[in-house]
Amino acid sequence: MNYNTKNYDYLIVGAGPYGAIFAHEAAKRGKRSLIIEKRAHIGGNMYTHKENGINVHDYGAHIFHTDSKEIWDYVNQFTEFNGYINQVVANYKGELYNLPFNMNTFYQMWGVKTPEEAAAKIAEQKEAAGVSGIPKNLEEQAISLIGTDIYTKLIKGYTEKQWGRKATDLPSFIIRRLPVRYIFDNNYFNHRYQGVPVDGYTAIFDKMLNSDLIDIQLDVDFFEHKDEYLTEFPKIIYTGMIDAFFDYQYGELEYRSVRFESETFDSDNKQGNAVINYTDAETLFTRVMEWRHFDKKGEEGKTILTKEYPQDWDRTKEAYYPINDEKNSELFKKYRKLANNQEKVLFGGRLGNYQYYDMDQVFNAALKAVEKEFKK
Ligand code: UDP
Repeated sequence: MNYNTKNYDYLIVGAGPYGAIFAHEAAKRGKRSLIIEKRAHIGGNMYTHKENGINVHDYGAHIFHTDSKEIWDYVNQFTEFNGYINQVVANYKGELYNLPFNMNTFYQMWGVKTPEEAAAKIAEQKEAAGVSGIPKNLEEQAISLIGTDIYTKLIKGYTEKQWGRKATDLPSFIIRRLPVRYIFDNNYFNHRYQGVPVDGYTAIFDKMLNSDLIDIQLDVDFFEHKDEYLTEFPKIIYTGMIDAFFDYQYGELEYRSVRFESETFDSDNKQGNAVINYTDAETLFTRVMEWRHFDKKGEEGKTILTKEYPQDWDRTKEAYYPINDEKNSELFKKYRKLANNQEKVLFGGRLGNYQYYDMDQVFNAALKAVEKEFKK
C-alpha cells in the first residue's frame, strides 16, 4: 500500500503545536504535509472543547504566556487573547494563600508587612535549616528561596504528590518555574504577554491547519506502519515519544501522568477562582480548575469544575510531564544520539525532545526548526 498518495513533502506525526506549526509554515512555502494523529482530535494537549458555553481544557489548564513579542504576534495571527492573568490560590488544610510566592503570601504566612521583614524571615529559616551553597535538589532550592514554612505548607506536599517522588530526589529547576517576589503581585507568571484564546485553543489549530496543502488523518497510529512511512516519505516530523520511536531499546524514559475528573454544577461561581491548588499531601488531587473563570464565558447558572489527580505513567496512559532527573536525562542523551543519526526524521515537541516545555517554548522550537528547514 502506498501511504504517500499525494507526494507529500512531509509526514507529520502528531497534531499538537509543534506539528501544526510545522505544517502551517510548510504550506505557506508551498509544501504539502500529511499529519497523522493517534487521538481523535487535533491540538495535542492544548485541545479544548465547549460545554455549556464554557471552554474546557481537556488536558489541564493552559495559559499562554511569553516574553517574546515574536511568539506573541505569531500566535495572535490565529486567535484573539482575552487578557486573563493567572492568579492561583493555594489551600493548605483550609488555610488560603496567594501564589506565586510574593508579599501577599508572606503576609498571610507570617504577618510581615515589608520586603525587608519578609527577607529577614526567609534568611532566618534558611539558616536554621542549614541550607547553603548550590541547591542539590528541589527541597534545598525551595528552602533557600522561601524558607521552611512555605516549603512545608505550599511546596512539599504538592510537589511530592505531583511527581510521585521525594522533593529531595527532584531537580531544582522545577521549583524555579515559579516566581518569588518581594512585591504584592499575584501574577503567576513573570512574562510580559499572557492570556487564554477567546474561542478556546482548538480554534487556533483549525485555523493553522486550514490549507489545501495539509491533510489530517485522525485515529492513526504511526507505529502500525512505521517502516512504510519511513520508506515512502521524504521527511518525517515526529512529535511522539522519542524512546517509543526507537522501540525502547535502551529502556523507558519516565513520565508523570495526570487524570481529570469533571463535574457540572448549577452555579455561576463555585470556587471563586480559576485555579485552586491543594498543597497538602493527603488530598489526592493537586488542583481544581473552574473553567468559566478563565474567560468569563459560559451559560448562566452553569459551571464546570475539574479536579486534577497526578498518577504514575505507563504505556497505556498519556505522558504529560517528562521527569528530567539525572537518570532520565542520561537515558534521553542516548536516544538523542540515535535521533541525530536519523537523517529523514526531525524530533520535536515535549515528547520528542523530552523537555518540560511551556507552550511558548514549543512554538519557539517549532519556528526555529522551520527556519532551519527552509534555509537550506
Ligand atoms: N508547585 C508547588 N506548589 C504549588 C504549585 C507548584 O510546590 O502550589 C511546584 C511543584 O513542584 C510543581 C512546580 O512547582 O511541579 C511547577 O509548577 P507549575 O504550576 O509551573 O506546574 P504545571 O502547571 O506545569 O503543572
